[in-house]
Amino acid sequence: MVLGRSINLTFHGIGEPERRLDAGEQALWIRHEQFLALLDCVTGRDDIGITFDDGNASDVEHALPALHERGLTATFFVVSGRLGSPHFLDEDGVRALARAGMEIGCHGMRHRPWRGLDRQALDEELVDAKMVLERAVGRPIMRAACPFGSYDRRVLRMLRGCGYEQVYTSDRGTARSGDFLQARNSIGHGDGPSLLEHIEALHSPIHSALGRRAKLAVKRWR
Ligand SMILES: [Zn+2]
Repeated sequence: MVLGRSINLTFHGIGEPERRLDAGEQALWIRHEQFLALLDCVTGRDDIGITFDDGNASDVEHALPALHERGLTATFFVVSGRLGSPHFLDEDGVRALARAGMEIGCHGMRHRPWRGLDRQALDEELVDAKMVLERAVGRPIMRAACPFGSYDRRVLRMLRGCGYEQVYTSDRGTARSGDFLQARNSIGHGDGPSLLEHIEALHSPIHSALGRRAKLAVKRWR
């Protein structure tokens, strides 16, 4: 592990999906046993950040009890416009997560890529969606996760302007804990505990860390 860096993991749905999944979502849905095995291998490691995207009902049904049992906390990025839809979290679910010590973050209003949206649409995604969640949990929402990992300089500037303190992407690799931009690693249905070694290897000297950094700098500044 490179000193001072942590690994952020992104989970989506857990268990048997009860709704028809969108294209690409299938690969991100993992079995309950696989989820428990991954949690077991990160328990006790303070260099791992656990996050959940999309506000699936499995956040409360599968994730919350398993995290609680292991004394782990996580950030749940919720899509505000889906609150209360079948098979997604409702306001009670979000409050249950918050009460259990979990952090609630914003994943926008309609789950669409933020890059390229006009001002009004971006306001809805970043400002209105944040307010919906703040009203539900009664505390400020300070973190956002970009749907589909889509961001650019304009999106980041607006996120800062809206008062977000940290923004979570899908850029893979490790992250520095205090940074505004937090790279994350999506867990897919083929991933097991060896995933962590792969991520750490991304920052080993043999891997072209410089090339990766240059690529991410382009994403931030385009
Ligand atoms: Zn998402």
